[in-house]
Amino acid sequence: MTDRYAVIGNPIEQSKSPFIHMAFAQVTGQDIDYSKVLGPLGGFAAAVDTFRAAGGKGMNVTAPFKLDAFAYATDLAPSAKMAGAVNALKFEADRVYAENFDGVGLVRDVVHNLGCPLRGQRVLILGAGGATRGALLPFLAEQPSQLVVVNRTLSKAQELAQLAEQHQPGRVPVQGLGYDQLQGQQFDVVFNATSASLTAELPPLPASVFAPGALAYELAYGKGLTPFLKLAQQAGVTRLADGVGMLAEQAAEAFVWWRGVRPDTSAVIAQLTVPLI
Ligand code: NDP
Repeated sequence: MTDRYAVIGNPIEQSKSPFIHMAFAQVTGQDIDYSKVLGPLGGFAAAVDTFRAAGGKGMNVTAPFKLDAFAYATDLAPSAKMAGAVNALKFEADRVYAENFDGVGLVRDVVHNLGCPLRGQRVLILGAGGATRGALLPFLAEQPSQLVVVNRTLSKAQELAQLAEQHQPGRVPVQGLGYDQLQGQQFDVVFNATSASLTAELPPLPASVFAPGALAYELAYGKGLTPFLKLAQQAGVTRLADGVGMLAEQAAEAFVWWRGVRPDTSAVIAQLTVPLI
């Protein structure tokens, strides 16, 4: 029997998840159907109830429902608790299991697909929103030599740094800073996890932060050379990436969780890649 999955969001037309999961199903020989659900604002729980009642097995959750999904779940994985948000649900009888695969998907893209180990590296993350929050534990598990979160609103960066410290007291030094405190510091891997690129803006980042041979990683995807990537390029950085691999890898994590088989992501990444020019 065909098992049903879906992604829920509002808006939802833009979602690549059905394309990605159906491609994974094809390469792994899994018999699934994967659709889009437009969740009414304020009507997340009712929409998920309806999907479950019709036999749905699992859902991906996108904006603006990641917090609603957190509240809806009966069993939150550590990744979801740490992120304070949920991007994947699995339904079994009356249980609703919840995960957040964004962070682990990001790390897998960087380490596995881009061949850039984070161990021993100086890592800088711009932004202190949901994506950064979800990436903290997966980043720390890689044991970088240093992790700095920088944010426009300093208090949020400091809060995340404290949270990270609580989870691994003293092991990896974690700092929350403002952009004006970055002068004179250099990093081997710089992630733009702000939403600035969605409006073609540039965080106030000094171009001097990129160490020789650095990787500049833009979490937004499909936008070509964003202002952040342009800044990195102008600073001499040649290793540039956007979040298309993260998107595919978080989907792959959900697919493994639901179906017990890991799909190869390379074909999906190749098809969704927008050149960085
Ligand atoms: P949030 O809205 O939770 O956080 C946004 C962050 O960006 C905040 O820290 C905010 O700072 C900062 N910010 C916004 N505008 C600016 C600006 N002009 N200058 C400096 N800082 C700014 O967003 P998310 O964490 O959910 O998403 C962040 C990015 O990651 C987005 O581009 C999103 O598309 C991408 N993403 C990609 C995924 C993928 O699969 N590739 C998955 C999830 C997210 P402040 O706190 O001061 O307001």
